[in-house]
Amino acid sequence: MTTLNNQQTEQVLGSLEAHIGGNRKLKNEMFDHWCTYVETHMNNGASFEQAYSKLKEEFGVNELKSIEKTYLAYHQSSLWVGTLQRAGSMAAMLLFLVVAGVDAQKRPDISPVFDQYIVSSAFGEQIHPITNKEIHHNGIDLRVPLNTPVRSTADGTVKTIKNSPKGHGLHIIIAHKDGYETLYANLSNVSVDAGQTVVKGEEIARSGNSGISSGPHLHYEIRLNQKPVNPKLYISK
Ligand SMILES: [Zn+2]
Repeated sequence: MTTLNNQQTEQVLGSLEAHIGGNRKLKNEMFDHWCTYVETHMNNGASFEQAYSKLKEEFGVNELKSIEKTYLAYHQSSLWVGTLQRAGSMAAMLLFLVVAGVDAQKRPDISPVFDQYIVSSAFGEQIHPITNKEIHHNGIDLRVPLNTPVRSTADGTVKTIKNSPKGHGLHIIIAHKDGYETLYANLSNVSVDAGQTVVKGEEIARSGNSGISSGPHLHYEIRLNQKPVNPKLYISK
């Protein structure tokens, strides 16, 4: 069993430091895996130089940047560390990172508008602004100017486009992975078609004042397995 000497270890570490930013935990994990990668190739007959250049070939700057980004998004997940430990090879780890990266695109965790907004009505029990009756507000209302661009908050497929003058007005429902759906209501204009796939952050509509509405705003809902959940708890960016 080959183990790297100090000089070789330094070389691997130097290369890692050059590419990965400040996160020490990530660096430690990567360092460990990189050394193992090089050692495994050396055990299979490669010289250090060959193994090291193969490592750099497999992990270009762009891969490292995307690993770092995904890692930072997932670093709180204990799943991560467990999976890293179980991953027997760099390929397995990379595959996991790719999968995790894709999954991250499917969770509705960004704001449905690009710009700053004011929440004019929160999720939960409230008095309906027009009927004055107590109702459950299934989403949040974002006070935004008319025709503010509205974006899909995760990758998904446009499930419904409908106009309900006595309800949500012109609205869109997008289906995402893991039982999530998002609803964007009181719109003025829709720029996608039913059945179309959309990516996280893609503009899908413009906000409006259609349906039952007491002023220009975007009504936004997240449903998990058809049950409305508080969007505030999801919007992280
Ligand atoms: Zn609302």
